[in-house]
Amino acid sequence: MLGLYLHIPFCSAICNYCNFNRGLFDPVLKVRYVDALIAEIGSARTPAGPEAADTIYFGGGTPSLLSADDVARIVSACRAAFRVTPDAEVTLEANPETVDTDLLRAFRDAGVNRLSFGVQSLRDDELKRLSRLHGAARARAALGEARAAGFGNVSLDLMMWLPQQNPEQWLESVDAAITLAPDHLSLYMLEVYPNAPLRDEMARARWSQAPDEDAEVMYLSALERFEAAGLVQYEISNVARPGMEARHNTKYWEDGDWLGFGCGAHSTRQGVRWKNVSATTDYIDLVFAGHPVKTGVQVLTPEQRLGDALFTGLRLSKGIDMVAIGNKYSTDVWQRFGPDLQPFVDEGILTRHGAILRLSRRGMLLANEVMAIFV
Ligand code: SF4
Repeated sequence: MLGLYLHIPFCSAICNYCNFNRGLFDPVLKVRYVDALIAEIGSARTPAGPEAADTIYFGGGTPSLLSADDVARIVSACRAAFRVTPDAEVTLEANPETVDTDLLRAFRDAGVNRLSFGVQSLRDDELKRLSRLHGAARARAALGEARAAGFGNVSLDLMMWLPQQNPEQWLESVDAAITLAPDHLSLYMLEVYPNAPLRDEMARARWSQAPDEDAEVMYLSALERFEAAGLVQYEISNVARPGMEARHNTKYWEDGDWLGFGCGAHSTRQGVRWKNVSATTDYIDLVFAGHPVKTGVQVLTPEQRLGDALFTGLRLSKGIDMVAIGNKYSTDVWQRFGPDLQPFVDEGILTRHGAILRLSRRGMLLANEVMAIFV
């Protein structure tokens, strides 16, 4: 079944490390954008009738800057253009400083049943260095408000390897996140891009990131603490209570199909990939003029599809079933890649049980080296 991704490119302020496709919130532009998004979704209805979709994901940017009415209209547009299953997972990314219980309740009434909060850290000094608008107390409160609004599925994003952060400080955020009892957590490692304002700020303030060995400790010890708290790792960067794994994101790792709507959104459909035009105003103008917004359509060869299925599937803790993927792409995976993979098995980076190939936890730190075999 399809996943539907909806990009909301507006933020209240631009964080100093961000390289997503986003811009400052502008109420007039937002109204036009929501209308354009709804029009684009409507145009996806196939003549043969609506196709089935079982996940909707509002990503950004900061989707919680939308009104509940905007969200309700967009969800309705999805339901009109697709056969959205009654139990569909409908996720909305939210920034802690943008919400209160009433707004969250209204999002729930609009059809959202899962929230993903961009918390990043539960230490005020770290949040300040990242130029985030919220503090730790607001992040804690937002979690409580989500529960009060009736959300039974709440995820948090945490970011590690922050400027001036040592492993103990990182683990403070980890422990604080555990006490908030989320259903799911995503862990990201901060990447300071060459043109990120944070890079200059770090140079000016003489902030540095911990050495690589500490980054390794941060990752491994966080996973241990999460697992002790019942949050089981199911993907390189994700942990969840059993049964609360992100269904939408799992499509990315399980060779699934999804359609992206909105500026800069990516889609993958049966081996064809494309991206929508990135600039918000260009996107709106093209939609209203009835022109296509797709750019860069790429038809993957069977070889590339096989490589991608292996590459992304290995991110999952359960690993890949080489027979199932081999059958799908008419090849013998082990015969094909075995000679390159065997040294990683010998070193304990990969484990192989019958047809199942998985990265060990230590191997997850070296995932890029393994995955390079497939691309
Ligand atoms: S809130 Fe998220 S998307 Fe917006 S600027 Fe900050 S990091 Fe980027």
